[in-house]
Amino acid sequence: MKRGPNNTNKALFLDRDGVINVNHGYVSKKEDFDFIDGIFELALKARKASFIIVIVTNQSGIARKYYSEQDFYALSRWLENQFWKKGIKIQQTLHCPHHPKFSHRCICRKPRIGMITKAAKRFNINLKQSILVGDSLSDMRCAQTAKIKTRIYLNPHLARFKGTLHKAEHKPYYQAKDLHSMLKLIQ
Ligand SMILES: [Mg+2]
Ligand SMILES: [Zn+2]
Repeated sequence: MKRGPNNTNKALFLDRDGVINVNHGYVSKKEDFDFIDGIFELALKARKASFIIVIVTNQSGIARKYYSEQDFYALSRWLENQFWKKGIKIQQTLHCPHHPKFSHRCICRKPRIGMITKAAKRFNINLKQSILVGDSLSDMRCAQTAKIKTRIYLNPHLARFKGTLHKAEHKPYYQAKDLHSMLKLIQ
């Protein structure tokens, strides 16, 4: 990672549930953590292309008291370690534990950009050279507001576009039906 005012890093921002792991709903234990096919290849390619990797994840399960923040940290340590075993460094996992109904309104819950701006400041990230991958439209809105240049919507229901990447007209993001088909965007 580069430091100093003129040395900026580019980042690959990854949503967690639905991008790294199958979204079974409020996943909080490693036993329920199923990696999505292609995530390690994507992360490895990003690291080789000198992106730092930052996970940005809404975890309202904490506000809802489905699991504790300690549970979340334990799972995150385990998760980062799974990447590390494959030679992939996760720079940081940022999470929003809030929910407007169960705790309070905050600036970090996506589509708000609090986690992105925090990471950008901490790691000197140039958002215009960065990428965000998410599986919900709130991820896309967050990335757009944060002026992240490359926004990729992982949409498994995109059967029509059989593995081809597609920049939909009127939609300012790319769509990909799986993680493999977005590899070509990482360079
Ligand atoms: Mg998601
Ligand atoms: Zn929050």
